[in-house]
Amino acid sequence: MTRALPPITRLLTGLLVAAMVAACGVVRAPSMDRRGADSFEDDVVTARTLTEQFWSRQFQQLGRTYRPISDFIPYSGSAGPSCGDEAAVPNNAFYCPLGHFIAFDQEWMEGLWSDMGDGSVYVIIPHELGHAVQAQLRTSFALNVQIELQADCYAGGTLSALVASGALTTEPGDENELIRSLAAAGDPTDDWLNPAAHGTAEQRQASFARGYRDGVGAC
Ligand SMILES: [Zn+2]
Repeated sequence: MTRALPPITRLLTGLLVAAMVAACGVVRAPSMDRRGADSFEDDVVTARTLTEQFWSRQFQQLGRTYRPISDFIPYSGSAGPSCGDEAAVPNNAFYCPLGHFIAFDQEWMEGLWSDMGDGSVYVIIPHELGHAVQAQLRTSFALNVQIELQADCYAGGTLSALVASGALTTEPGDENELIRSLAAAGDPTDDWLNPAAHGTAEQRQASFARGYRDGVGAC
C-alpha cells in the first residue's frame, strides 16, 4: 500500500473471495509487494492515522464522537505493557480496553511486513482499532469468534473506504498479502490460534471480504 498515489491499480474483492486455504498462525510466503520508498515505520503510522480518521468520520455521521486510542505502544518480546492482570506476550498485537491503547510486538510485526508485505500492517492495525471501536460502541456478542470476525469485517470496510477515497492505493500483490495476513494477525492472548474460538481462515477471509465489499455498515 502506498499513500495518496494515483487510482487503484487493482480491486481486491475478486481475489479476496477466491478460495485460499490457509492455516491459522504465521504463514511464511515470499512478499509480492513493491514497497518502493515505504518503510515499516511509515506504514505503521499511516495505518493507524488513516484508520482513526476513517472512524472519526463514521462516528460524526452517527452524531457521535470517536475517541482516539490513548496510546500506541511498540514493544519487544515479553517487555510489553500488561492489560489489567494480563501480561503482554511476544508475537502479538492487541487492544487493551482498560487503558484504551493498542500495543504490538514491533519485531514480530516488522517480520510479517518483510515476509508478507506491507498489507499485513494494513490488516492488523485496522483489526485492532476495530476492537477499539467495538469498545466505544459497547458491542457485545455471545461468542468471542463473533467479536473477532466483526473486527476482520471492520478492517475490510476500513481498507476499501480508504482505497475508494484515494488515501491508500493498492499495488499488485496487496490482495494476496491481505488474505495471508488474516491468518497471521494478532490476539493469541485470547486464544487466537484456536480455530473454534476465532473462526477458520475461510470465515475470517469471508468476513473481511464482506466488509471490503459492503462497507463497515454491513459488519
Ligand atoms: Zn482481535
